[in-house]
Amino acid sequence: VGELNADLILYGIPRDLPEEREILASGFTMTLGSSSAILAHNLSAMGTRVSFTSRIGPDALGEMCCRRLHEVGIDLSGVVRSTTGSSTGVTLILPLTDTRRILTYPGAMFEMGIEDVDIDRLASARHFHMSSIFLHRKLTPDIPEIFREMKRRGLSTSLDTNDDPENKWAGVLEEVLTITDLLFCNEEELIKIAGKDDVEAAMAQVAAKVPLLIVKRGSRGACAWRNGKRIDVDGIRVNAVDPVGAGDSFDAGFLHQWVRQAPLESCLAYGNLAGALSVTRSGGTEAFRDAAYREQFLAAHWRDKALIP
Ligand code: ATP
Repeated sequence: VGELNADLILYGIPRDLPEEREILASGFTMTLGSSSAILAHNLSAMGTRVSFTSRIGPDALGEMCCRRLHEVGIDLSGVVRSTTGSSTGVTLILPLTDTRRILTYPGAMFEMGIEDVDIDRLASARHFHMSSIFLHRKLTPDIPEIFREMKRRGLSTSLDTNDDPENKWAGVLEEVLTITDLLFCNEEELIKIAGKDDVEAAMAQVAAKVPLLIVKRGSRGACAWRNGKRIDVDGIRVNAVDPVGAGDSFDAGFLHQWVRQAPLESCLAYGNLAGALSVTRSGGTEAFRDAAYREQFLAAHWRDKALIP
């Protein structure tokens, strides 16, 4: 369950773009965007069956996003088209060299409510995942109960917080942490969640709240904490061209092994591999769309060949 929107990626912007200055980009790409949708796309592209629940506008952008998800075989019967006049959300991405400015125009994603979520369909899966809880404002009060119901019905569950620029995770995050089996986050999010400046201290604090904590560390790889024990995986050396969607791709790789009940080390290694694959192409899904490229990359870097389905 999560947000489904388009990414508008602008090119040709000076690296030292000052604040409050009008500038003409030299080009743009409009592509499938948003954390949850990138995760769903890349997980399905790798060969795991995925059903996606979201809300879009009745417009061409929404159709473009759905077409891209349909191409990789995702069940889209849970995607609702808004009738309130809201459009599909768009995220504007300004790829500056040192930092990346991201502006989200949420559109229909702010409207998704519990009436849009088919609990029985979700419960027919083996695993339930939700990303970016702060973007689902209307759904927020119901999120802990959705997680609880999934647990009651025997699914394993995971949450990726994603960064909340307004720090509005509020009480709902604390509550979901007491229910979810897995928590994915990066180091900045971890620090915010723990309210501590020190990454190691933050990790230890949050790891004590969830059965399994997975922390993404960019080109340095990732680590997992379970039962007080930490496992690390080093980043894979690649020619990184675009970090957008690396974290979502990591989650996809991890869950691809998790639903196959692979050992934690394999889940972590495959997440790391999928994250590295993602950064080798521009946009969150391009490296996964190209099946020949994807398969060649995964096979070339994967030690535990037995786990490739
Ligand atoms: P985003 O929010 O942009 O999706 P994130 O901040 O949640 O990303 P990152 O830590 O940037 O996540 O990246 C996720 C994973 O992808 C890393 O843990 C690592 O496995 C892989 N990865 C990211 N950047 C690189 C890189 N430059 N080289 C190799 N692997 C990378």
